[in-house]
Amino acid sequence: MSNPLPTFDDVARAATRIKGHAHHTPVLRSSTIDQRLGAQIFFKAENLQRIGAFKFRGAFNALSRFSAEQRRSGVVAFSSGNHAQAIALSARMLNIPATIVMPEDAPAAKIAATRGYGAQVVLFDRYTQDREAIGKRLAQEQGLTLIPPFDHEDVIAGQGTAAMELFEDHGAFDRLFVCLGGGGLISGSALAAKALAPDCEVIGVEPLAGNDVQQSFYQGKIVSIPTPKTLADGAQTQAAGQITFPIIQRDVSQILAVTDQELVRCMRFFAERMKIVVEPTGCLGLAGALQMGEALKGQRIGVIISGGNIDLPKFAELLSR
Ligand SMILES: *Cc1c(COP(=O)(O)O)cnc(C)c1O
Repeated sequence: MSNPLPTFDDVARAATRIKGHAHHTPVLRSSTIDQRLGAQIFFKAENLQRIGAFKFRGAFNALSRFSAEQRRSGVVAFSSGNHAQAIALSARMLNIPATIVMPEDAPAAKIAATRGYGAQVVLFDRYTQDREAIGKRLAQEQGLTLIPPFDHEDVIAGQGTAAMELFEDHGAFDRLFVCLGGGGLISGSALAAKALAPDCEVIGVEPLAGNDVQQSFYQGKIVSIPTPKTLADGAQTQAAGQITFPIIQRDVSQILAVTDQELVRCMRFFAERMKIVVEPTGCLGLAGALQMGEALKGQRIGVIISGGNIDLPKFAELLSR
């Protein structure tokens, strides 16, 4: 038997653990978007979270639960993106040694930032080596605890605190749009929604090129795809998790898929109208809401902006297209 799925109580306990360590991020409004959709849209700005993405919530929650022995030995994570930074920063704040396994062709700025947080970076060749195997070997040889980016109950519970804050600050919504990769953010959000706003439909939004969870949702089983080519690098996952998928099946209403072009349009809207930098993956929620369009008329809608980490030259290039 596998462990029982995490519940809203786990999300509420995570909120207590991260309080004063994670930012309680602001909720932003835009009259332009409200007028365009004929609805009230509330943006939960996790691009303004520590390390620039919601991943800090899950990482800090997971590391806070380490035993004295786990703290002494340390944590290992494999990621080239926001999860790596989140683990590295949380580990530094909690005085836990961190090892991050990153592809050797990851952007130099990201490798430097991860080292800057005091983590030991282990590089690997993504074409010939398997990062998961390296992570597991390090965990075994050095007694490190492996924290995966989404398929872990403490990570899911931590990610759910963003939606929990949104409901507590602004009441119930008719619909909540959530950026979707491996499903940590949406499964935590759905746990919060079912407890705090039971009539709110939770909607996941994936990149069209990497719609593995959408396929899984409609086929009723986890579908695995090759690493998708999309600008939404935070959602380049190949399959939903063993813990996230059952929660998605039970508590999520539907899953939409959007093109990279739609993401770039949203990125431009956020920069031009709302004066915020949002990475392509962070645009999934708004792109999904815009795709649904008419159906949202007269409703109160929540949208999670999941992150804002993008190299500025890349940002400029995408916006100048
Ligand atoms: C990780 C990430 C996602 C996807 O989150 P999952 O929990 O894997 O579904 C979305 N947006 C950003 C910015 C991310 O870093």
